[in-house]
Amino acid sequence: SERIRLGIVGYGNLGKGTVKAIQQSQDMELVAIFTRRNPQDFHIDIPHVKVEHISTALDYQDEIDVMLLCGGSATDLPEQTPQFAKHFNTVDSFDTHAKIPEFYEKVNKAATEGKKIAMISVGWDPGLFSINRVMADAILPNGENYTFWGKGLSQGHSDAIRRVEGVKNGVQYTIPSDEAIDKVRSGANPTLTTAEKHRRVCYVVAEEGADKAKIEETIKTMPNYFADYDTEVHFITEEELQRDHSKAPHGGFVIRGGKTGDNNNQIYEFSLKLDSNPEFTASVLVAYARAAYRLYKENQYGAKTVFDVPLSYISPRSNEELRRDFL
Ligand code: NAP
Repeated sequence: SERIRLGIVGYGNLGKGTVKAIQQSQDMELVAIFTRRNPQDFHIDIPHVKVEHISTALDYQDEIDVMLLCGGSATDLPEQTPQFAKHFNTVDSFDTHAKIPEFYEKVNKAATEGKKIAMISVGWDPGLFSINRVMADAILPNGENYTFWGKGLSQGHSDAIRRVEGVKNGVQYTIPSDEAIDKVRSGANPTLTTAEKHRRVCYVVAEEGADKAKIEETIKTMPNYFADYDTEVHFITEEELQRDHSKAPHGGFVIRGGKTGDNNNQIYEFSLKLDSNPEFTASVLVAYARAAYRLYKENQYGAKTVFDVPLSYISPRSNEELRRDFL
């Protein structure tokens, strides 16, 4: 059968991960990457793949089945998704949870107008975690959902450390609290704040001669970012930072403790442990591009979320094969 022809909009971490994910999918091919920067500055070592300025994207309407939107959630996607959804089937990973309803309305209007499919907020959270929150809640109505994030590198908290006086470089990991996870796994359904559910571990490279005690104190008492958390600060060298902390790991847990019948505890748990957050998220986007393409072929249109997609639509395998080997 014919391969699904893909385009990528935005060539950051996620965009780069997407290129690698497409290469692992035999039913897909990458046609072009679109960027707001100068395309001449990019050298992509894959035959037939073009790098183009984003302003030329419309010329590719007949050559691209699904456009993977890899821009940032803060300012890129709120603009780019509604624009592109008028002209292309799209998949994005919009992850500002509080703004998803508003984003959905805007994108749905655009995609409906263009009679295209726009898969929004795909990834792991939102995305796979969302699916599991819904499943657990539907199956165990008498219970409580919990989401823990990490171990993960947090960009915002790492930036906050690097702004502290005397700090040359640094990273911050958000780590789920073992104590909190154990409580949830016991079926106790405790009331937990975000700060009780997570701790923060910082690896800091200090400037030469800097006052380390003062740096540690400043970090640990920083309002909003660290003050409410159990925070650890470790001083390391620049070499150690480059060697041990240059990946972008992430992951986490969705857990629901529920009760059925006569007080039987039922624990539902889904977890991810990711070496590379952008490469994994990109892999989810690519699987959902398959779903977007299939929904479009059925003449469906509008904005869709992971809740709206039959599971078999994201798989490259036939329904016969799925029933035989996976059911
Ligand atoms: P990023 O690296 O900051 O890239 C975002 C955009 O910035 C790119 O599309 C690119 O657009 C531009 N850019 C990248 N590097 C640049 C540079 N050196 N100079 C100038 N511009 C540059 O962000 P990301 O790590 O790819 O993440 C994208 C989004 O994915 C995040 O905002 C997050 O919301 C989402 N995400 C979602 C999940 C989930 O589970 N749902 C998980 C992870 C991430 P141009 O090529 O057009 O310049």
